[in-house]
Amino acid sequence: MAGADPGVTRHVAIAGNPNCGKSTIFNALTGLRQKVGNYPGVTVEKKTGRFFGSHGEPMELLDLPGSYSLQVRSPDEAVARDVLLGRLPGTPRPDVIICVVDASNLERNLYLVAQMLELQIPVVVALNMVDVAEKNGAVIDLMALREKLGVPVIPTVATKGGGFIELRQAVSRSPLPPPPVCAQMPIVLEREVMALAKQLPVAPEVARGEALLLLTLHDEALDAITQHDRTIIDATRSAQQRLTASGIDPLSAPVDARYDWIGQVCAAALHKGGAHDATSISDQLDGWLTHRIWGWVAFVGMMALMFFCIFTVAQYPMDWIDAAKTALANWTKAHVPAGDLQSLLADGIIGGVGGVVIFLPQILILFFFLGILEDTGYMARAAFIMDRLMSKVGLHGKSFVPLLSSFACAIPGIMATRTIENRKDRLVTILVAPLMSCSARLPVYVVMIALMLPAASAWEQSGIMLAMYLTGLIAAFVMAWIFKKTLLRGDTPMLLLEMPPYRLPSWRGIAQRMWERGLLFLRRAGTVILALSIVLWALLTFPKPTHSDATPSEALSHSIGGRMGHAIEPLIAPLGYDWKIGIGLVGSFAAREVFVSTMGQVYNIEDADETSEPLREQMRAEKRADGTAVFTPLVCLGLMVFYVLAMQCISTVAIVRRETNSWFWPLFQIAYMTGLAWIGAFVVYQGGRLLGFQ
Ligand code: GDP
Ligand code: MG
Repeated sequence: MAGADPGVTRHVAIAGNPNCGKSTIFNALTGLRQKVGNYPGVTVEKKTGRFFGSHGEPMELLDLPGSYSLQVRSPDEAVARDVLLGRLPGTPRPDVIICVVDASNLERNLYLVAQMLELQIPVVVALNMVDVAEKNGAVIDLMALREKLGVPVIPTVATKGGGFIELRQAVSRSPLPPPPVCAQMPIVLEREVMALAKQLPVAPEVARGEALLLLTLHDEALDAITQHDRTIIDATRSAQQRLTASGIDPLSAPVDARYDWIGQVCAAALHKGGAHDATSISDQLDGWLTHRIWGWVAFVGMMALMFFCIFTVAQYPMDWIDAAKTALANWTKAHVPAGDLQSLLADGIIGGVGGVVIFLPQILILFFFLGILEDTGYMARAAFIMDRLMSKVGLHGKSFVPLLSSFACAIPGIMATRTIENRKDRLVTILVAPLMSCSARLPVYVVMIALMLPAASAWEQSGIMLAMYLTGLIAAFVMAWIFKKTLLRGDTPMLLLEMPPYRLPSWRGIAQRMWERGLLFLRRAGTVILALSIVLWALLTFPKPTHSDATPSEALSHSIGGRMGHAIEPLIAPLGYDWKIGIGLVGSFAAREVFVSTMGQVYNIEDADETSEPLREQMRAEKRADGTAVFTPLVCLGLMVFYVLAMQCISTVAIVRRETNSWFWPLFQIAYMTGLAWIGAFVVYQGGRLLGFQ
């Protein structure tokens, strides 16, 4: 019915970033005269309503979905763009745009304004939330802003009804002039834009904007265009090539020009409040924490501090848990007659479950830090500095949040990918999420680092740990880039992230999350790990050797687990591993943290009478047939790299199966990650040996 209304004199669209107050203004202007429907073919809500200009002339108002830019990244933004360019059948191109701007976030909001002004459609800017801006101590020079924008700027407080009379007046003023060109593009670019605009079969008002959008499209996005015929696409491509040849990147030059313009506007019209005021402290912090270099220094420094605490502070409770575990095992040995039952209880269950539970303090510290980083608002900044990398591999900034949560555990991380609208980007994110070092890797890293460098300081240990986390991160980026180039090719989206204000962390909230995570970890230890420990114990105990004078080593070799270890030995020998490490790899296939307790069981069986000796000492003393040590520094490093890259988690497989609704992706993921892990460990071990290391 929209547009068919005969009485309507003007079509007005309300555009703006999400949460800037569009709907509040829409509701205030239209009152109860609203219609809600859907845009054809998409599940985006279409809200229209009738309102009257200052002389009573009826106009139709359209509440557009929130958008940051006309270079769209979501179905919502695509609808807003298509309406503004008059591409949507049944929705007439607006005669006037009310561009709502959040005054307390002027700088960020101006990007969309710049793009609105590039369309030759009259624009009225509603400078909303001036109350918030004022409270934040920002002073906006209205005259300067009007002069710089060259269009009417009406300050409003939508929630309190401030400024609506002026807004109504501005919209019904006639005739409204088209806005002047604001962001100055390089001359060469401007010439190409005008030339391309002339060829476009669209209304002259939007031709320039449309041409600019075409010129900033990637190759693949150009291929996907359906609303123009090939001659236009070819013309765009050759214009892009000419621009590139003359040293102008057609994809980034318009963006840079808009940001330059925003800088000029803000310099002239925006005066921020005193230094003691909350926003400016926030801004200053942001200046450091999202800085090109200092941002990374801060990020790496914070991670290093976190791992340092994980190594030092956690040591005390870990010693207590270890003592309790040993006491429990000894008690069992004293009260249960020697035999399979004693072995199952002491080695299988207490050793297996205890060997995992001992890492509870470190995991709690990890979540303590992650909680602080999240609560203070730092995570969004981390995502922001990461986005520079993410965009290089062709991913959305949104993909980094799931990756960041995968540092704790890939399962919530993979579930968090649901916020990614683009199916291919979501799949890529799911595929690489388990490469982020989750908390279950901690036990493996801790034991391997202790074995590798027995005399290392906590800082050195943290350094290696950090290196492992970075290895996972880099692997995730490289694989994402490869997947985006091959299996899941697609358009590269652009990032604009909400930056929440810095806040003091809520200690209660953090404690609650640590408690939840701790319980989850213990529940996993009590179920999955317990079951796996029993199965592993059985695999390592049966079948028993036929003659009773067999050595423990022969018995282990004879067991199913031992045979499995022997069976994969040829595969892992190039990585420097023997069959006993093979048992650990097989044993931890379903849950990586079981590696440590599996090794515990393996060496306990071997040195049945020396169980009081700590596992690390046993592993350190382990010799090959030729008398050399098994766990050389290179083997330890290679094993860590293997665990950085390998899938080794049955719960993740299950969740990927559920989220992708297919068996192909989880199986593919196991295959590529195992392959990657093997290659990584191979390169470390063989490369290290070539360089003369041990
Ligand atoms: P939309 O996403 O752009 O449609 O934004 P909404 O109209 O839903 O507004 C987002 C939030 O900002 C709501 O909670 C509004 O009540 C609030 N809001 C809108 N305008 C103003 C304003 O001028 N001042 C203040 N303080 N809050 C506002
Ligand atoms: Mg809204």
